[in-house]
Amino acid sequence: MKAILIIADGLGGRPTDCGGATCLERAATPNLDELAARGALGLMDPIAPGVRPGSDTAHLSIFGYDPHQAYTGRGAFEALGIGMDVRPGDVCFRANFATVEETKDGLIVRDRRAGRLSEGAELAKALSSVRLDDLGVDAFFQASTEHRGALVLRGNGLSAAVSDTDPHAVGAPVAEAHALTDDPAARRTAEALNAFSHRAHAVLRDHPVNRRRLSQGQPPANALLLRGAAVMPHLVPITEEYGIRGVCIAGGALYKGVARAAGLEVLSVPGVTGDLRTDLRAKARAAAQAQVEFVFVHIKGTDNAAHDGDAETKREFIERIDREFFGELLDGVSLSETHICFSGDHTTPPQVREHTADPVPVLFVGPAVRPDRTRSFGERAAGEGGLGRFSGRLVPQLLGYCDLGPKFGA
Ligand code: ZN
Ligand code: ZN
Repeated sequence: MKAILIIADGLGGRPTDCGGATCLERAATPNLDELAARGALGLMDPIAPGVRPGSDTAHLSIFGYDPHQAYTGRGAFEALGIGMDVRPGDVCFRANFATVEETKDGLIVRDRRAGRLSEGAELAKALSSVRLDDLGVDAFFQASTEHRGALVLRGNGLSAAVSDTDPHAVGAPVAEAHALTDDPAARRTAEALNAFSHRAHAVLRDHPVNRRRLSQGQPPANALLLRGAAVMPHLVPITEEYGIRGVCIAGGALYKGVARAAGLEVLSVPGVTGDLRTDLRAKARAAAQAQVEFVFVHIKGTDNAAHDGDAETKREFIERIDREFFGELLDGVSLSETHICFSGDHTTPPQVREHTADPVPVLFVGPAVRPDRTRSFGERAAGEGGLGRFSGRLVPQLLGYCDLGPKFGA
């Protein structure tokens, strides 16, 4: 028995999206309607009724974790998502390569993204020479896309209660991190972060990549701006709790990071981009072919279109999900041996351009799922579905249909 969870980010909508109907309701979705007729629908509050979710906290809740316990900030999941080795207790930071000017008032930020450079990986290699051994701390830096990267600090007695070195403004000096609590661990972490910031500048300043960029009239990436300290939480991987193997198929680092924290192996699927251009058929083929008990597929484009305020693009992308993703998936899996759950991680109405607290439609289908009377997939139908309304925990419910999971009590 195999379980496949598909999350279309920001799937949920409001009747104001498309003149009286949501984008999902307005979209032609014959495959999803067929699955709705065979399975059951319901409405999910991603975290709890009235809570406006972030994508990261919503995914933790969908995976069965209590986000109030498990969420320590985005940095830890981003670092995991770009493939770094992150361990419980590590303190993670999001990083930007930036252009700074040396003045008598300090290092003044001239470009917070160093012209969105493409040489991040080469500079990251040079930064591996930055050591904090004298402070008893190990530092690991990795570049991701364009100017982005992540820093992981590892050592005894570190804390995430430190301020950013990123001034979040052009024309301001690179900040000195300071402890946000009276705790010696916070002071120690601020000291390590400042040491890394200074030593990274010394390495980057004269790096051949930057000499080349200067000679070509491009802004040099001569400093790192660090922000969003987050300690890696202790999570029991669902693979351990359920005794299963699981994989993740996603483009965005944040989702890969949450999946890795939950014990899933991240598959790299060519053509998967984490935006509207993604190869939905490639995702579906990878999901169908994975020889594991649990597959998590994340599709981001729905949320991107909604943040852009573009209801038409969101509706069209939902039609592509139906035709390309579900068309391919249903050719590749047997519904007598597979349980499928399709939902979103929150509602993103294009008119609002942000996540809202409204519940999200959910579809479950598979041999153990009791069919209800719904015949199409959408917000209105989901409100009449047999699953009613519940909060998060899609993964425990999906694995429950597969008779997996520990028993609570005797
Ligand atoms: Zn989201
Ligand atoms: Zn969003």
